[in-house]
Amino acid sequence: MAANWKMFKTPAETTAFFNDFLPLVNDVTAAEIAICAPFVDLPTAIAATAGSNVTIGGQNLYWAKEGAFTGEISGPMLKAIGCTWVIVGHSERRQYFGETDETVLRRTKAAIEAGLKVIVCVGEVLAEREAGQTEAVLAKQFEGGIAGLTPEEFAQIVIAYEPVWAIGTGKTATPEMAADAHKAIRALAATKFDAASVRILYGGSVKPDNVASLMAQEDIDGALVGGASLDPVSFSKVVKF
Ligand code: PEP
Repeated sequence: MAANWKMFKTPAETTAFFNDFLPLVNDVTAAEIAICAPFVDLPTAIAATAGSNVTIGGQNLYWAKEGAFTGEISGPMLKAIGCTWVIVGHSERRQYFGETDETVLRRTKAAIEAGLKVIVCVGEVLAEREAGQTEAVLAKQFEGGIAGLTPEEFAQIVIAYEPVWAIGTGKTATPEMAADAHKAIRALAATKFDAASVRILYGGSVKPDNVASLMAQEDIDGALVGGASLDPVSFSKVVKF
């Protein structure tokens, strides 16, 4: 169960979140819990969760290890401060910051080389769903962004299916829609990799009151949660659905 805080919370708000959140989830053993926070909050989040059952990740990285890339953060930097995870290819990065399937693959490989585990995001926009192109879009994103991994690299990723029209909109894919997409993604993965063990998260307006019906679907292994992860009580309810 992964949180994507997007561009929310200061370090002080991060401390306050973990003061409330950790006691609510310290008995959780059935789920792996990850919080992907803004870069400036990562040292605070990592210190706050030391020795707990919660791991921390970034929301993006650049593929070079270091260099003249003003404003960027590398995989080795995230690893050095104690990150376990990084999100790559979130739809907001694709939409606002020019992320492509090709750059998703470059970032994913760089993150894995640095020793990070990667949450790779895929998903269609509303016009593509309405045009009946969901599976074709997923296939293109898989071919360009994931199929170029080696089997060893593939073992280090989690795939997040996030229909773009359901992110931050309050609209959730029905459990059946999500299940169909997850099944299609696992079938794509099976053409190249050992797909049975890859975890596929659903993301898009997951909340305490809809998480159980989504998680009941066979190919949905977890959730990537934006808005509902900002509040400790709400995210603890998602985690403990
Ligand atoms: C996300 O940011 O990945 C996300 C799924 O957001 P929300 O839960 O707010 O739709």
